[in-house]
This record gives sequence, C-alpha cells and structure tokens, in this order.
Amino acid sequence: MTMDFDIIIGFETHVELKTETKLFCDCLVAYNAPPNTHICPVCTGQPGALPVLNKRAVQFTVRAGLALNCVVNRRCRFARKNYFYPDLPKGYQISQYESPFCQNGYLEIPGDNGQPYAVGIKRVHLEEDAGKLVHPASTPEASGYSLVDYNRASVPLLEIVTDHERNPVRSVREARAYVEKLRQALQYIEISDCIIEKGQFRCDVNISLRPRGQATYGHRAEIKNMSSFRFIMDALEYEIQRQSDMLRSGGEVLQETRLFDEQKKVTLPMRSKEDAPDYRYFPDPDLLEIELDQQFIDKIRKKMPELPDQKVHRLIEEYDIPKSDVLVLTKDKNASDFFTACALVCEDRKRLSRWIIRELFALLKKASTAIEKCPVSPGDFSRLIDLVSRGEITDKMGRMILEEMFERGVGPDTVIEEKGLKPIHDLFALEEAVDAVLAENPEVVSKIKEGNKKPVDYLIGQVMKKTLGKAKPKDLGKLIQKKLLG
Ligand code: ZN
Ligand code: MN
Repeated sequence: MTMDFDIIIGFETHVELKTETKLFCDCLVAYNAPPNTHICPVCTGQPGALPVLNKRAVQFTVRAGLALNCVVNRRCRFARKNYFYPDLPKGYQISQYESPFCQNGYLEIPGDNGQPYAVGIKRVHLEEDAGKLVHPASTPEASGYSLVDYNRASVPLLEIVTDHERNPVRSVREARAYVEKLRQALQYIEISDCIIEKGQFRCDVNISLRPRGQATYGHRAEIKNMSSFRFIMDALEYEIQRQSDMLRSGGEVLQETRLFDEQKKVTLPMRSKEDAPDYRYFPDPDLLEIELDQQFIDKIRKKMPELPDQKVHRLIEEYDIPKSDVLVLTKDKNASDFFTACALVCEDRKRLSRWIIRELFALLKKASTAIEKCPVSPGDFSRLIDLVSRGEITDKMGRMILEEMFERGVGPDTVIEEKGLKPIHDLFALEEAVDAVLAENPEVVSKIKEGNKKPVDYLIGQVMKKTLGKAKPKDLGKLIQKKLLG
C-alpha cells in the first residue's frame, strides 16, 4: 500500500550575537582565546554574583525581530531553564519563556509552488550560551576525562523558533530555502557573522508526518546539532524516509531527540524528548521585568540596515543586471558588498557581476578563501573588468591575469607589464600581422569575400597567435573586415 504524507518541519535556530561583551557580565566575547581566559564570577555562576543585562544584545534581538516581521513585546522577562550538564555552571540557563522579546513574525521564502511563502515565526528570544566541552582524545572514553571551557558561557544567543500552526516549512527544498534566507537576513542586519563552522549558527530541526487526508500529525522527532547545511538536508531526507516507512508498516513515530551521524548519514535515537515542564521554568528573580519604550523600538527600526530583498531590488534597479545574477551575488552579504564596492568604479556592471560569479567565486572556492579575505581588491578587479570590456585584453588573457592577481595580490597592470601582454596599439605592426595571416589562408579569405562572415573569428584567432595575444580582438575584427570587404 502506498501512502502520501504531509510533512511539517520546524526549526529552532540558535545564533550567537556579535556583541563585544557577554549577556550579563563584561567579559569579552572571544573566539579561539585560550580556555577560561574570559570568565568571571557572573558567567561561571558563583554564589552571590548578580547578572546585569547587556543593552546591545537587546537592541540586536529587537532588530532581528523587526527584520523577521515580528511583534515586539513591550514587557519582557527572563526565565531560568533548569537542567544539569557540565557545560552549564549555574545549573540553569537564563532564557525566556512566557514573555519573549519578539513573536508572531514571518520570513518570506520562495515556496514549493513557485510563489513567495511566508514561513511563520513563533518567537525570537534572547538567552545565554553554554560553555564548551573539550575532549582531549577523539572520544571521552578514550581519554577518560573531558575538559570544559567557559569562554563561551553566557555569550548572547538568539533563539528563533518557527510556528507549527502557521505556514510551517513543508519540504526539504523549503527547509533549505528557510535556513539560507534566515542566515542571510541575520548577516545583513549585522547582528551575527553566522559562521556555521564556528558554531555561530546552529539548527535543531523537528519533523512530523501525517498520511494525506488525516487531520493530525504524528509525534515529532527532533534532530540536534547539525554542523552544516548539507547535514541538515541529509538528516531531513533520512528522517522523512524513516518516518514514512515506519507509518506505512503500521508503526508509530516516537517523540524523541535524535542525533545525526555525519559519516553514516543516518539519525540515531539519543533520548526521549523533554517537554517544557521538565525544565521547571520560572521567572529569574535576579533580573527585573524589562519594559521597552516605543522610542527605543522606533530608533532601532529607523536604523535598520538594508535587508536582502531590498538589496536584490536595488541592484536590479540601479545596475541593470539580470535577476539570476543578483540572486547569486546577494546570497552572501560579503559578496554583495564586494560587488557594490566594485560597481562604484567599474563601467561594465554586467560583465562585473558575471566575472565575480564565474571567475572570482571559482578561484575563492579553489583556495577555500572567503570573499572578505579576497587577495584581489575591488579596485584592481574593476580595472581588469574594464580592460576586458574595452577589448584591450581578451577574455582568456583576463582570466589568466586574474589568476596571477589572485595568487600574488598584485594589480592587473603589473601582470600585463611583467608578461609583456601590453596590447599592440602600433597600427603598422598590427597590419603586418594581419596581412601575413590573410596571405596564409587564401581559402578562408575567399569565403569571407563571398559574404560568409563566420570565419572572421578564425582569422582573429590566427592573428592573436602571431601577436602572442597582444592585439585587441575588437580592432582586429574591424581591420580584417576593412581589408577584405573594403
Ligand atoms: Zn563573565
Ligand atoms: Mn535555546
């Protein structure tokens, strides 16, 4: 018997905010610092230490809420989420429960039916991160002990939860669109770098299925701690298959938390899923209820950086480049920043966007370098594009020059000079080369004279060879046609 299933995918995304200091103390937020060098009585939960709220973190949270079209609550509070784990020095996490900063928003993604789809956001709240367990050997069993680094303890963490009732994500494709769009939006509003490998953007995903036509969904299985987009998608594919097989064979899906095995690409049971009552949430008595005044919210709204959709719109309007290119360029904020920096000086924006996407992205990928660390400056890149545009150098030479520029961090003119790639402007030398090529190719010449212009390109290529690529292809075309056709 075959059964079709409706799918609901829910996301709880944790994002580390790039504030200077931690959420409730003035310890610095630092990556890669030696273990336990950024800790104090507050973030290590010493008795009697009192938390003081970081205002910047609240501003960032409200900014995220507004970008995600949420209602910002005027009265908010922090709650203690109680559980025991060695990376949590206080024995509870300061989080939010009843009154989060923001709720009831949405994030628009391209939906499965080709139409925009507003994925419901249930809440955006602020909480503190836990410390990090360090295992000296590959497994805790192998070393016999684990270490704990509290530098990350109490770093401000944004939690964004999607709504199960209102426009949930319905497929793996939409799931991908959602995480990409969310990460992009948070990068654009400059509240987090969202580098997945550094743990700054972490997704827990839950999935439930129901046979089509049935009213209620089955239990959710939650998958935790996936360290890349690829793994999220693999885990979802696997889990949908596992749950539909289970339901088809008459079984029941358990409410549980599962782990994704990155090597075997399967999810494995970890523990039965906790419910909110298990955490004994209660308002944190050390922190007062917070009242946000309208002015505070309005000010954040006014200073909101450009959002991805706005940027897409602006690049299409202002620079007249194709939408497909714009979508690729704006995916990563740093790439779109690189483009706009170039566009200030570059004349040929269409070629510019194409070269960033085809040539520069390929070089960056090969060198596994992020575009913000690109060894080619926007000024040098633009100069190269303009040289190609004006026909001073060919596409092929341009690509070769770009490789040199990328490798050595030098400008295009330096490479052209060194390699003797200077275009031939000397008309006499050029004519000589053209004449020689025409004399060598009498059949081609007669074809052109009969009105077939196609072989002109072949002749251009021959002259380029003779001049070692120094001639401008545009000039050559003109010259050859003039000589043959008058
Ligand atoms: Zn501290
Ligand atoms: Mn959380």
